[in-house]
Amino acid sequence: MSPSSEVDASTEHLRRELNDIRKVGGFIILAVLFWEFRGQWQMVRLLVATAVVLGFIHGVFIEWVWRRRGAVWAEWMRMTANAVTFAVLGWGTKWPVALWLYLPFNMLWFDGVGGWERLRAIAYLVFVDVVALLGGCDPFLPLSFTALAAIAFLVADKRTNLHRTMMRQVLQQREQLQKAHERALEQEKLSSLGMMAAGVAHEINNPMSFVTSNVSSLYKELQRHQQGLPEPLQEYVTEVLPETLDGIRRVNGIVSDLRRFSRGDAEIPTEYDLNDEARAALRIAHGQLGHCKVETDLGELGRVVGRSRQIAQVLVNLLVNAGQATAPGGKVHLSTRQEGEWVRMEVRDTGSGMSPEVQSRLFQPFFTTKPMGMGTGLGLAVVHGIVTAHGGQVMVSSQPGEGTCFTVLLPREPPTEKAVSSGH
Ligand code: ADP
Repeated sequence: MSPSSEVDASTEHLRRELNDIRKVGGFIILAVLFWEFRGQWQMVRLLVATAVVLGFIHGVFIEWVWRRRGAVWAEWMRMTANAVTFAVLGWGTKWPVALWLYLPFNMLWFDGVGGWERLRAIAYLVFVDVVALLGGCDPFLPLSFTALAAIAFLVADKRTNLHRTMMRQVLQQREQLQKAHERALEQEKLSSLGMMAAGVAHEINNPMSFVTSNVSSLYKELQRHQQGLPEPLQEYVTEVLPETLDGIRRVNGIVSDLRRFSRGDAEIPTEYDLNDEARAALRIAHGQLGHCKVETDLGELGRVVGRSRQIAQVLVNLLVNAGQATAPGGKVHLSTRQEGEWVRMEVRDTGSGMSPEVQSRLFQPFFTTKPMGMGTGLGLAVVHGIVTAHGGQVMVSSQPGEGTCFTVLLPREPPTEKAVSSGH
């Protein structure tokens, strides 16, 4: 049995039990009335007749109204039937105390259907009291039992509201838990990919350092002796080695991205000027932004603590992506703002935007929609790694064909860094 059908079954079971209690309660009061009128056959006949009619109304007619017209109508019918039966029995039996027990008893079953419950309860009580007083009943009985009935109604009403509120809270918490679970799964995926990336980066980094140094030395040597070189080797100095060094620089860049994504570099958190980093990021990304109109809105920021080079890297990655997604003449907007204990950075563009599928895979390492050689799919994985390591969040909103906005929220002082920054 699935969890939801288990819940359905237990709710149904409870509802049936509640209905049984309602019936048994009604019969107990009826039994008290029979006891009171034992031997008075005319009264007993009246009681039996009203019990049969009421049983039919409750068991058949109200069920029918419920199915045809809904719960609100059925509740009005139930209340009318109870009130009329009460009045008939009262007139017929001269308002015995046992009959008044029905008043608070009925109030226990108002279940707040459709928001009319208070009006229904008041109408019921007023009707019964007026009929009783007109029928010569001792006013003490309607007065005291109406007070008891009002209390019973308020308790039932508040209890129903309490249960509803609790139910809403449970549902909200369930939703939040579900979201947290999804986030945890995503983190887990990213962290195992991060460990793998760290291993790969480490393995590539060592051979790459001597390849870089050897090829650079060879290039410098050949450049120095370029004049005396035979024709085929000349080509190495002018084309092959510069291109090789370019490739090497690119591989080194990817390796350092991978290392940063996987565990962050060894930079120590310090107090820094985030707007300075934003301006530096704009300068670095300038090559990718030349074709668009760049707007900046750097707000007044208080003290910010963190790894400044990494934050600059976050902004460079977001700006480069924005520039690459934006057609000539489009706009890229960079803003920073302080929001209480947080700093909000936004990189907004009027570029190609993203489909929901792309958005759902955005932070996965190696996910790219760019052609070979243009994208590594590491930019946003690095952004995500750095921002979460700072205790922040990255959010994205995007419309295909209209543009994209990346929002980064950073705590002005990441909780775990407080001790470091204040020198403790
Ligand atoms: P890369 O840029 O190397 O592809 P990223 O991780 O930086 O890797 O980005 C992953 C993908 O997210 C990109 O290939 C692109 O499809 C999409 N993307 C990122 N930023 C934007 C943007 N501002 N507008 C549209 N698409 C974007």
